[in-house]
Amino acid sequence: MSRVLIVGAGLTGSVCACLLRRELPQKIKIVVWDKSRGAGGRMATSRSPTDSACTVDLGAQYITATPHYARIHQSFYEELLAHGILSPLVSSVEGMMSREEGLTNYVTPKGVSSIVKHYLKESAGAEVFYDRHVTHVYRRGACWEVCRKDGEPEHFDAVVLTMPVPQILQLQGDVGSLMAVPQREQLEAVSYSSRYALGLFYPPHTSIPVPWAAKYICGSPCIRFIAIDNKKRNTESSDCGPSMVVHTSVPFGVEHLEEEKERVQPLIMDELQRLMPGLPQPASSKCQKWRYSQVTRSVADCPGQMTLLSEPLLVCGGDGFTHSNFDGCIESALKVFQVLKSSL
Ligand SMILES: Cc1cc2nc3c(=O)[nH]c(=O)nc-3n(C[C@H](O)[C@H](O)[C@H](O)COP(=O)(O)OP(=O)(O)OC[C@H]3O[C@@H](n4cnc5c(N)ncnc54)[C@H](O)[C@@H]3O)c2cc1C
Repeated sequence: MSRVLIVGAGLTGSVCACLLRRELPQKIKIVVWDKSRGAGGRMATSRSPTDSACTVDLGAQYITATPHYARIHQSFYEELLAHGILSPLVSSVEGMMSREEGLTNYVTPKGVSSIVKHYLKESAGAEVFYDRHVTHVYRRGACWEVCRKDGEPEHFDAVVLTMPVPQILQLQGDVGSLMAVPQREQLEAVSYSSRYALGLFYPPHTSIPVPWAAKYICGSPCIRFIAIDNKKRNTESSDCGPSMVVHTSVPFGVEHLEEEKERVQPLIMDELQRLMPGLPQPASSKCQKWRYSQVTRSVADCPGQMTLLSEPLLVCGGDGFTHSNFDGCIESALKVFQVLKSSL
């Protein structure tokens, strides 16, 4: 039985694990390591420190299916709709720009990380470990030795890297020397936007009297998007106060990228008060810096994966190899799965 390590419990990693479990159950032992404390990656859902039933999505906000992807990823959409993980977006989003006809928008009633958790659950038997930050990957004959912060190295027959491309390039050990020059050049050309997300949790019965559930903001140098998260997901309840997420603009994110988020949060709060005067004080908050937010330039021709070595297999995937949304990650996971299937 081959032991496969998937680095990253985001959407790409969790779908890879699920595909391996469903299609090659007898052949593979799946291990997932993520440096964070939970599943989701950039599909992150944060809980209120005072009431774990109140949540806010700090990364991806909704899933938009184009007619093309609705057709080719139909089974993925049907599965998530059948499990109540996705439901149609019915609330009002002001200023949403659609570049294409026939788009369908979905929300996640249990928070966007429920998509990732669904696929990890469907990978029954996979060993998923958090707080495992991979630092070095060495080739040791026919297998890989993978080192992490604060722990013993382990050996695997194949390794899948699904983190943002700059984090793949930061890995030490043999990864860099295995890359052919054109591969390195392609990876170094990948770029991401940067922004902050601020999650705000309000006490029960707090009223936020605006006609929209989410709104794109024009003309603010600081704030680009605001969502009243439980209203957006159509899950308002009297037990739980509203939760709100504020995304900064990319120029603001880039300008303040190297600052402590404790210094940046008051700037975002001041601008929010200016845009929404009279907004009550939140009971608690969570500020997230997305250094690698959405892909602005992906690997040329969007191959879905890049194989750094075939034997033993070392393969990279993630939205950097396609595009930054649900369908981009599914596409990448399917491509990585094809490589694994033909090599194991
Ligand atoms: C602010 C924001 C808004 C967005 N809005 C939308 C939207 O509305 N709709 C949409 O479809 N998409 C949206 N996206 C994009 C979407 O979230 C991403 O495309 C998707 O989540 C990427 O998934 P992934 O698995 O490829 O990567 P990630 O989610 O980044 O997963 C990679 C994982 O690897 C882990 N990791 C990194 N380095 C290491 C290491 N050295 N060792 C161990 N683990 C490591 C990370 O902790 C992470 O969990 C948004 C993203 C952001 C940030």
